[in-house]
Amino acid sequence: MNEAWNDFTHEHGPGIQGRREILKSAAAVFAAPMLAGVAEGAQSPQHASAAAKGPFPARAYGVAGAKAPFAPMRIERRALRPNDVLIDILYCGICHSDIHIARGEWGTSRFPCVPGHEIIGRVQAVGSSVTKFKAGDMAGVGCIIDSCGVCENCQADLEQYCVKGWTLVFNTPDRVSGGLNFGGYSDKLVVAEHYGIRIPPGADLAATAPLLCAGITTFSPLQHWKVGANQRVGVAGLGGLGHLAVKLAVARGADVTVFTTSPGKVDDARRLGARAAVQWGDAEAMKRLENQLDLIISTVPKGYSIQPFVNLLKVDGTFVNVGALDDLEPLSGRALISRRRNVAGSVIGGIAETQQVIDYCAARNIKADIELIRPDQISQAHDRVVNKDVRYRFVIDMSSSKEAA
Ligand code: NAP
Ligand code: ZN
Repeated sequence: MNEAWNDFTHEHGPGIQGRREILKSAAAVFAAPMLAGVAEGAQSPQHASAAAKGPFPARAYGVAGAKAPFAPMRIERRALRPNDVLIDILYCGICHSDIHIARGEWGTSRFPCVPGHEIIGRVQAVGSSVTKFKAGDMAGVGCIIDSCGVCENCQADLEQYCVKGWTLVFNTPDRVSGGLNFGGYSDKLVVAEHYGIRIPPGADLAATAPLLCAGITTFSPLQHWKVGANQRVGVAGLGGLGHLAVKLAVARGADVTVFTTSPGKVDDARRLGARAAVQWGDAEAMKRLENQLDLIISTVPKGYSIQPFVNLLKVDGTFVNVGALDDLEPLSGRALISRRRNVAGSVIGGIAETQQVIDYCAARNIKADIELIRPDQISQAHDRVVNKDVRYRFVIDMSSSKEAA
């Protein structure tokens, strides 16, 4: 994700605009007549016109620096390009990656930083060549908002492995206009239609938002390693990603074991569909599980000693790290050789696969367990995620920011 998970290395552009400049350009664009070729939603025709004409202001919640609390700020969204959609954001999930970046933990952060990459909203306007969405549709946006589109990985619907690097929805320069982009802790977003995900009618919007990162990140390895009935899956870390990993693996018929550092989550793991939950440090349980598991998905956000978990894999079993960017401790070569075991990693999923997980979950009524918060609670929510005190995803209700405005 951004340079940390990506080769993408552009120069930084200018960040947030001066408030006066934004208001000035806003006044100009709001006064502009409707441009031909942009279809508007019924809700705010002036805004759609403005979006067609030039950059326009949006409300956001961000941090000025790695130690700063979240505060309301004004940002600028780009004018709609022909293949862009303007989304009126309704909900945005809080992923631990938002926290890593807002706190400068990956060494790639630029400020001001407006995180948010589990975004759902209503399409308010579309550019002249858009065919995937029309005004009024529900749309989702996850991590990826651009990629080269021509490399072998992009051509194979694996934009997340674009050889030129993909563009994260926030904290990254726009590939065309430079600058610094801002994520979903905001009331509006402009994105190219290809990177928008169709949200099926009737979906529980707030509880679907986390599928756009936490869902796809855990769905993708289950797909890639072809997890099915009668396979045994381990999930290390029962947080935002972990609880969806459990639900998605159970939906495929897998027999799931959760590994948690939180005694209070053991019952939850079973309620979510896991057959067993093992507390870290339970040597007896770990011994019993040696050579038993086909796949382990680790969502733990920090580096740790993975050897005890690799020992749980059967022949050809795979340990997939999705959580930690830190070094993982040295591994025993013997432990790998003796069972043809694999240690792998995986980052989110491509756009087609993200659409697939949204449709898959809608058809099976799979959604995240969420706690809905107001934007003024974001700082506190970030602290609670770090303290493992979320059951299991915070989602920001952006409509309360509109009321407050
Ligand atoms: P989360 O909600 O905070 O869940 C992480 C869980 O890991 C915690 O709830 C906790 O579960 C466990 N844990 C074990 N040791 C921990 C520690 N020292 N500090 C905090 N938690 C610890 O986070 P998330 O949103 O699921 O994200 C998990 C990680 O995946 C993050 O590092 C995030 O950046 C990364 N991520 C990767 C991708 C990708 O594409 N690969 C996508 C999204 C996120 P227990 O209480 O059960 O132990
Ligand atoms: Zn995420």
